[in-house]
Order: sequence, then structure tokens, then C-alpha cells
Amino acid sequence: MKTIGKEYLFYSFGKDLKPALSADSGETLVFETKDCFSDQISKPSDFDVLDWNHINPATGPVFINGAEKGDVLKVEIINIEINDRGAMCVAPGAGVLGDGITAAEARMIPVKDNMIIFNDKIKLPLKKMIGVIGVAPEGDDVLNGTPGCHGGNMDTKVIKEGASLYLPVFRTGALFGLGDLHAAMGDGEVCVSGVEICGKVTVKLSVIKGKTIKNPIVEDSAHIYTIASAPSMEVAAKECTGDMAALLTEKTGLSLAEATMLMSAAGNLQFSQVVDPLVTLRFAMPKSVLEGYFTALF
Ligand code: CA
Ligand code: ZN
Repeated sequence: MKTIGKEYLFYSFGKDLKPALSADSGETLVFETKDCFSDQISKPSDFDVLDWNHINPATGPVFINGAEKGDVLKVEIINIEINDRGAMCVAPGAGVLGDGITAAEARMIPVKDNMIIFNDKIKLPLKKMIGVIGVAPEGDDVLNGTPGCHGGNMDTKVIKEGASLYLPVFRTGALFGLGDLHAAMGDGEVCVSGVEICGKVTVKLSVIKGKTIKNPIVEDSAHIYTIASAPSMEVAAKECTGDMAALLTEKTGLSLAEATMLMSAAGNLQFSQVVDPLVTLRFAMPKSVLEGYFTALF
């Protein structure tokens, strides 16, 4: 199995990145990742001297042989391993409550026996996820801190072990990369960080021909999620909800009116994150209600 090490970092998704390596469709690869602070914080005071030009690193990119514009890249997340210590931060103006935060502050968060030690009274279960994951976008380069239809900093907690992420391919070879693992993060990422942590991710990358998608889609054992990032929650809500309606009408033959009623009865519009340069929302549809129509997404 090929491993892409932490010497292959990039800070913007773009067409001109030099690939770390090339892989065939169907290959399984291991990505070693730095945390979103580029592993610069090992004690709280390190946050005061953080080099902000080197944040949100992703590992890669990988050139996937045969991937062309208009294809879909399937990313099966097989395994996420994380370090035994994460970090969180707040900063004035950042996050939902940033106007009440008067000073930047970081905290180290130990991980022990599959639990996150928040303080001496609070332990949290691990909910490992990938914050930054994507491909080279259609147009100009996009900083890794910003999400979009190419993926990027979606900070979406359902992008986790066992899930498959489907990404639109915009450029020959796709130029796929990932980083910014979280030991846990709640919907919204309200303080502006998850439990940021370095680690190692194993994914299987497959090119799907003859299908085109506009925005990322996630599938796990129980749900399909359409994901959209936009300047406002209203726009992101409309886009991910519209993507789910389009998917359902195509796969089931239901009218838009019926699909919308079904989504209203059984689906959930959810926040991924509301703190990045674009916000990310998702529409979650339980697969169980769709079994009479289809079982495989692609
Ligand atoms: Ca992030
Ligand atoms: Zn992060």
C-alpha cells in the first residue's frame, strides 16, 4: 500500500499542484496528516506565535490515472488513526460567539483509551472525522480553509470511517488530497475549531465514469447526504436541499412535489459548519425509506 507522508503538504486546492504520486482507480492509499495548525501547537502559548501562512495543510495531492473532468471520484474512508493529543482554539471575531471572545486562547486536549479528556470532569467519546478533503476545483485555486463544490474545508462530521464521499472531478487526474482531522466536532463547529489532531487516513479511491455531480455527496450505512457550501446559510440550505430533491427524482421517478414532501417528512437539513469563509450545510436522507426504489447510490 502506498503512503503519502507529511512532506507532501499543500495549502490550496488547484490545478497546478505537483502530484505527490499517481495511483490507479481502485487503489487504497494511506495519507499521513498534520493538524490544521500544521502541528505547531504543543503547548497553549505556541498559539500566540502561530505561523498563519501555514494552516490547514492537506496531504497530497494524488493524481488518479484515468480521472477526467465530469467523472465522479469515490473516496471510501477505510480507517482514521489519530495522535494521543489534540488542540482547540478560540480567537476574537472567530466562530459564532467570537465577538464575545476577548483574547486568543488554545488548549491541549489529551486522547486516552478512546476518550477525549476535555477536563478533569468531562470525557468525550471519539468521533473521528476529516475536515479538509477534496480535489482541484474548476476555476482558480481555493485555499484549504475554504469549502466548495470541490470539497475542501467542509468540516462535516459525517465524513468519517466507514463512509464514502463522492466528489465531482474538475481536472485531469482529480488531484485529491486530505487533512485537518478532528478527534471530535459537533455540528456547526461553533468555536471555530474541532478537536484538531494529526493522524493517518486510509482511503480507497475509485473513478466512476458516466455520472456527473455538482457538489459532494456522502453515503454511510444509514444515510445519503448532499453537501453544499455557500456565503450564507440560506443559500447553502437551498442548494443541498435542491441537490437531494434532484437525486431523489432521478433515482425514484417521484415528482418534485412528492420528493419534497418525502424530504420534509423523513429528511433532515443539518449544519456542518457555520464558521469558515463559506458555510456548509447538508441534507440527510435515511436510506431505509428509499429501499423500495434503490439500494445503491451509483
Ligand atoms: Ca477545518
Ligand atoms: Zn480542523
